[in-house]
Amino acid sequence: MILYAVKKGAYYNIDTFKQDLSDMEAQGFARKIYVNITNKCNCACTFCLRNTKEMNEHNSLWIKKEPTAREIIEAFEAYDWSGLEEIVFCGFGEPTMCIDVVLEAAKYLKTKHKEVPIRMNTNGSGNRENGRDITKEFQGLIDTISISLNASDAKKYYEVTRSRYGEEAYEDMLDFAVKCKEYVPNVILSVVDCIGEEEVASCKKVCRERGLTLRVRPFEN
Ligand code: SF4
Repeated sequence: MILYAVKKGAYYNIDTFKQDLSDMEAQGFARKIYVNITNKCNCACTFCLRNTKEMNEHNSLWIKKEPTAREIIEAFEAYDWSGLEEIVFCGFGEPTMCIDVVLEAAKYLKTKHKEVPIRMNTNGSGNRENGRDITKEFQGLIDTISISLNASDAKKYYEVTRSRYGEEAYEDMLDFAVKCKEYVPNVILSVVDCIGEEEVASCKKVCRERGLTLRVRPFEN
């Protein structure tokens, strides 16, 4: 499925809702639509949903074919999405691996409803992956970038993410985050609380030193 909503860690196709999406809240959903771009990822995180959750026909995020920007736009156009709280480009894999599609779709969405915020969840590898600084292309299109920090140093980061780019991926990710700040209003790094107080404190220090904002979020199974 290309567009979906989330409730209590489960994924629901947008066709669960009325055309005007007016029943989302009544059904217990936040008024947020998630955009499933690709299965591909340049990391192989030990905790990745793709390894830890059983997928089935009802909730599977595994897409058989990556959507084009046109297909994403058409999926939105089938609904009245003007009242959404947020649109989130998030995977199921790493969205910056298809950054041209993300940006083309975001451009259209901003043209139609500038007031609906757009977020991208990423592992922060976008500049390395695309061989260029893509952050300046986010200006006016992406309102929030959420980046998984995962760890307080390159070695620990690599142990968790098993990035294709090795331990260098850590500094790449931090550099990406700092560059994003110039073009994106909200840049948020995140870690899960289960990494322990000491590691959380070290992650806070890493972010503080670079002027980045860290969010510590609860671990969800
Ligand atoms: S970066 Fe995200 S999609 Fe990629 S392996 Fe890690 S958790 Fe999975």
